[in-house]
Amino acid sequence: MKIDSLKDWGVGLDKPAIIAGPCSAETEEQLLETSLRLKEVGINIVRAGIWKPRTRPNNFEGVGEDALRWIQNVKKETGQKFAVEVATPKHVYEALKHNVDVLWVGARSTTNPFAVQEIAEALRGADVPVLVKNPINPDFALWLGAIERISNVGVTKIGAIHRGFSSFKQTKYRNLPMWQIPLELKRQLPDIPLICDPSHICGNRDLLFSVAQNALDLDYDGLIIESHRDPEKAWSDASQQITPEILGTMIKNLKFRTATSEDKDFITILSELREQIDHVDKELFDIISQRMEIVEKMGLYKKQNNVTVFQKDRWQEISDSRNKWAGELGLNPEFMWDLFKLIHDASIRRQEHIMNTPIEKLDVTAK
Ligand code: PEP
Ligand code: MN
Repeated sequence: MKIDSLKDWGVGLDKPAIIAGPCSAETEEQLLETSLRLKEVGINIVRAGIWKPRTRPNNFEGVGEDALRWIQNVKKETGQKFAVEVATPKHVYEALKHNVDVLWVGARSTTNPFAVQEIAEALRGADVPVLVKNPINPDFALWLGAIERISNVGVTKIGAIHRGFSSFKQTKYRNLPMWQIPLELKRQLPDIPLICDPSHICGNRDLLFSVAQNALDLDYDGLIIESHRDPEKAWSDASQQITPEILGTMIKNLKFRTATSEDKDFITILSELREQIDHVDKELFDIISQRMEIVEKMGLYKKQNNVTVFQKDRWQEISDSRNKWAGELGLNPEFMWDLFKLIHDASIRRQEHIMNTPIEKLDVTAK
């Protein structure tokens, strides 16, 4: 997949790319004031939703095409670039006609391949950067598929926005970050600029900073943050927006690290530590292999004695002791339990295989 790097998008972006602006354009005056105040804190690309996908009808659905004229006026006045969400071919045509600089595909659209394909067809031949938000549900293939559809019509200025995944569980996030999904995207498409949207992940102002910092520490290429001149009075997503000034302070306090360093000492020390890690990991694998051998012996022994693979009491005992060990070693018990369950599941499957295989076909010499 051909993906241009951020600095070749022609909209003044480079890593770290910071896009900010209101969830929704509300009035021309609100858009102008917010943009001017954002410019003061160094924001050169303003986001603004003008067609808002709402979960239920009769909520504010965006001001629509009027905002495209406001955007043109604000652009003339401030020199900033603008990004808007497009959800239908008509949105694409209108946005391009009014010289919107960056388009994004929203999370609800990404969940629907028909919608994405229609948007993609409307983009054919256009030389505009397109950012694809992750789908609402944690389905990696849907996200990748949407990016592929946009790429297949010839768009090369493509980026991905990580806005978190909805969950039926009540958590401290509005949308769970599930960092492993965007990191898998970056593994499969190493050139794609990956931008974090902490506003929609958090749904509130309190967690914004830590989620943004986490994304930067994971080497994301940028952030897109909702910022409003008067957040409490915003017509949509009021609880997660921040003023341009607070955004400015937040950006000053964030640590922007680099993925590599030219420093010789750093390179030497890091490679020594990596050698140590490789060594420890090899030991971990050896230990798991030894564990599997014991599991096989036990499986055979249970089979010979007509005993079930799984025993309830033993499982309780395992759970208690492993949690206790995690605590004693200062390890996160939840993480250790998840890891242990994977190992245990594999062991059970191994023993089930032994149960289902005739003795004479088994290559195990347990006594
Ligand atoms: C938005 O960016 O305001 C928006 C609607 O986001 P999402 O598509 O991530 O829900
Ligand atoms: Mn929003």
